Amino acid sequence: CFITFEGGEGAGKSTQIQRLKIRLERLAQPVLVTREPGGSPHAEEIRAFILSGRAKHLGPLAEALLFAAARIDHLDKTIKPALKSGTHVLCDRFADSTRAYQGSLGNIDEDLIGQLEAVTLQGVKPDLTLILDLPAETGLARAGARQAGKGEGADRFEGEDISFHQSLRQAYLSIARAEPKRCAVINADQDPDEVETAIWAAVRERLPQ
Ligand code: C5P
Repeated sequence: CFITFEGGEGAGKSTQIQRLKIRLERLAQPVLVTREPGGSPHAEEIRAFILSGRAKHLGPLAEALLFAAARIDHLDKTIKPALKSGTHVLCDRFADSTRAYQGSLGNIDEDLIGQLEAVTLQGVKPDLTLILDLPAETGLARAGARQAGKGEGADRFEGEDISFHQSLRQAYLSIARAEPKRCAVINADQDPDEVETAIWAAVRERLPQ
């Protein structure tokens, strides 16, 4: 199965991906954890360029095309081969990040984002998307503590105010409303053990065992 994790800053995606991986492996299921932007050697190079902040000077559309280029390579080199061999793929961010960040927040037209997505994904869609939802203030406080010691992404992060993160949250919730079959909204504003339990329930409920 192909499972993607989405959410704003400090939602706890990385922690929960590791926890789901452990749960699946306990059932002797092969699992690959990957991330976007990145997930293949060339897509990681594009990630480094984007997160350095330099891509911002290209403008939102060119930036979206860079994300798309990285995603095509990631799909071809990492995701599709793993799925073909029967490995579960857990991906930290995917196409919904483009819809939310470049689409809703970058003001790129929804139709254009849809067209770009169709060209990029070539029919590959997540079986389940877990949207880790929490108030913007809580996520920012968590991410702020972490960001202090971390260089990557700092350029993007700076200058994005609370209203940016509130809009991001709304963008994700509207994606979930539009595709309730694929998307499960998980309350991430609780203890990590409780988030893990909620995610496991969503996985068991929605995916064939
Ligand atoms: O998930 P992670 O924190 O590694 O993502 C790095 C950053 O890349 C995010 O904070 C977000 O600002 C940005 N991003 C983006 N558009 C995407 C995916 C990620 O702006 N499509």
